[in-house]
Amino acid sequence: MKKVISVVAPAYNEEESIQRFYEVIKGVLEGCTNYDYEILIVNDGSKDNTPNIVRDICAKDKKVSFVSLSRNFGHEIAVMAGMDYAKGDVVILMDADLQDTPSIIPDMLKKYEEGYDVVNAKRKSRDGETWMKKFTAKMFYKVFSASSGKVKMPENVGNYRLVSRRAVEGFKKLRETHRFARGLFCWVGYPTTEIEFERDARIAGKTKYNYKTMINYAIEGLTSFTTAPLRWATYLGIITAIVALCYAIYVLFMVFTHDPNLERGWASMVILILFFGSAQLIVLGILGEYLGRIFDETKNRPLYFVQEYINSDVNNSGK
Ligand code: UDP
Ligand code: MG
Repeated sequence: MKKVISVVAPAYNEEESIQRFYEVIKGVLEGCTNYDYEILIVNDGSKDNTPNIVRDICAKDKKVSFVSLSRNFGHEIAVMAGMDYAKGDVVILMDADLQDTPSIIPDMLKKYEEGYDVVNAKRKSRDGETWMKKFTAKMFYKVFSASSGKVKMPENVGNYRLVSRRAVEGFKKLRETHRFARGLFCWVGYPTTEIEFERDARIAGKTKYNYKTMINYAIEGLTSFTTAPLRWATYLGIITAIVALCYAIYVLFMVFTHDPNLERGWASMVILILFFGSAQLIVLGILGEYLGRIFDETKNRPLYFVQEYINSDVNNSGK
């Protein structure tokens, strides 16, 4: 029996690109003659026509599966659902907007055959993205790798990757609410490699990420992986304490020398209050981030609910 590839694509309001996505992916997978395949589309609570389009595709093509979540849970949770429902021996995770160039799939499979469990697709260029997004992405990778210790995250790798069955099983065990898939795959480990590709602009529709969600995503990524910001808070505390001590010595010195400037302390007073006030707020904010996460994780809620599942005819080769 041939090994089975599951292509997993989360889709949220992708009515403009989903049909085209299906056709292109189908073409590429038909070309991988050593494998059987399943295309699994996860509908993340789309409000447009996406579910109907996918249902039609499923009716005509028994190699297509469809999982529809009960509402919009966000990309990361949709990825989790996709991993849970994917049946393949190999899973290829990609976006439904064809930004993840499908033509590199045969190369990814080659790496898999060489024995790699995770093959990351690394973006060579980021066409169609503003310099601001490129810059913030760069900064994020810097901060992340400086703080995450043993988990090394490759730069410019998005969610587009090939994952072997055993790495998928590992990923499925990590059921935290606050998810950061690319980091989680690094955490799971196993032999990992990457191949480069040119990331295209979206074929249709627009990105669901704006700056607010990007900033949230970056905070999510950091705080779900490392407690380093708590350590930074401590450093900040130490630094402000040293500054405060120096200033206190200076003030005492003025007192003992009866410095005539002693009365005119308004400006320095205000600056000190502002400085320590903001330092405390930063530290409280960081504490709050972690506290919030502990709160969310202790609720131990299921990650998603499924309202509809259309199963393809394809099954795992069992190898
Ligand atoms: N997506 C999703 N749920 C969401 C937002 C996005 O499933 O709440 C899907 C979306 O349909 C796409 C993928 O996640 O297939 C990546 O989203 P997008 O293209 O908007 O992100 P970008 O490529 O701009 O980072
Ligand atoms: Mg996209």
